[in-house]
Amino acid sequence: MTYGFLYDSVWHPPLFQETVRAANDLPSEIELQALWFSGAFGREFTTVCGRPIRIVQFGEWNRGTGPDFSHAAVEIDGVTRNGPLEIDPDAAAWEQHGHAADPNFRDTILHVVFRPSPAHRFTRTCDHRDVPQILVPGDLLDEALNRPPRETAIAHPGRCLQPLRRMPAASVERLLTAAAKKRATAKALRLQRVIDAHGPDAGLYQAVAETLGYRHNTLPMRLLAQRAPLHALQGKDAHAILFGTAGFLSPDLHADAPEDIRAHLASLWDTWWKHRSGFDAGPERSIRWRTHGQRPANHPHRRVAALAAIAGSWPRFRKLATAAPFRAKPVVDFLHSLKHPLWSRRHTLTSAPTTREVAVFGRATARELLANHLLPLARHQDRVTWREIHKIRTSQPNEKVKRCAIRLFGDPDRAAPWLRRLCHHQALLQIYHDFCLEDTTDCEACPFPEQLAQWR
Ligand code: SF4
Repeated sequence: MTYGFLYDSVWHPPLFQETVRAANDLPSEIELQALWFSGAFGREFTTVCGRPIRIVQFGEWNRGTGPDFSHAAVEIDGVTRNGPLEIDPDAAAWEQHGHAADPNFRDTILHVVFRPSPAHRFTRTCDHRDVPQILVPGDLLDEALNRPPRETAIAHPGRCLQPLRRMPAASVERLLTAAAKKRATAKALRLQRVIDAHGPDAGLYQAVAETLGYRHNTLPMRLLAQRAPLHALQGKDAHAILFGTAGFLSPDLHADAPEDIRAHLASLWDTWWKHRSGFDAGPERSIRWRTHGQRPANHPHRRVAALAAIAGSWPRFRKLATAAPFRAKPVVDFLHSLKHPLWSRRHTLTSAPTTREVAVFGRATARELLANHLLPLARHQDRVTWREIHKIRTSQPNEKVKRCAIRLFGDPDRAAPWLRRLCHHQALLQIYHDFCLEDTTDCEACPFPEQLAQWR
């Protein structure tokens, strides 16, 4: 029995996904736009009128009035058209938002929607020109979101405790390996889509940004990486551009900052205002950060500073991240060695200096980057074997991994043999994602324990 068969036999995905899609609402418009731009839905589509369409260029985020993206290129019936592209969760939004009468939307080449509207199957401009419309299929959206019905399952021993306890260690190892491989394959394919859409450097850069955004600022960091892309930072002060694009150079912040930080902010501003028109998305499309309820080390100011530090050392990072054969330790050591005169001794732009030096890019975050992006990609590209991945040890399970361990094994002591390797952490997270977060009956109706009995 394979892990995939076990998963399918438990949830019977086609029926299950239908139910979830009907019950769930769409994510926010900005998240849909960020996913689209990252290439998460691929390049090949069919218009609602049945014409095949290929996205040649995803364009760039629009910083002014008009459609969401400018300079996109799409191929329809063998003809490539260039121009702006609009994304709406609902097909009806085009009319509701007045785009049909707005001259700013006159040149739109494509209208992308996620929910159909029988009354709005045709998108028309103020000149009564028909704009091709595509409806992103629900299964592509589900795959890109990869989001179970709930975010957390409480940390208590679950019903699969007994079958797992009876299982020989070799069988548990096989189960975890299969779950970890499933997770690595899905993550590699997701990153490969971004690479296919924007190239290997942009793919890696977005992966770093998303890792730094974990957990509450993943979307803001993805947006930042898309609006201030790596290629646009070349030859410029990455620190100033990223802080400016993030919206962290506002006069309010200057007023709240300690005396010594104000000089730093003033120098960033001196650079930022010269480049501002090329990056600033304006108040309507500003990035909304979550700053409350975060540990100081996870504050978005620090995370943006870490992204700037990597962007400033990109050639070295790229060489290590794309090495063949891939080796994990040099990547972690390099990231941990990054320093900055201000950020090695400061948590946020408004905090007091720290007494001890703090890592700009911590080892735990570096391991997240390895587990979620670099190792899956290296395996997908045959630059590392599973045997090598299996050898990578880690001593610090995060809170989510600990929660999975308690649900599956009862307590951290019993789970200890499965908490020492990075791949086992990933396996626990995958089982938690596939079963615990899908179950809404507090284990009672979860079929995983019964299926486990057949696992050899
Ligand atoms: S929800 Fe299912 S997989 Fe998760 S702990 Fe309970 S029985 Fe086990």
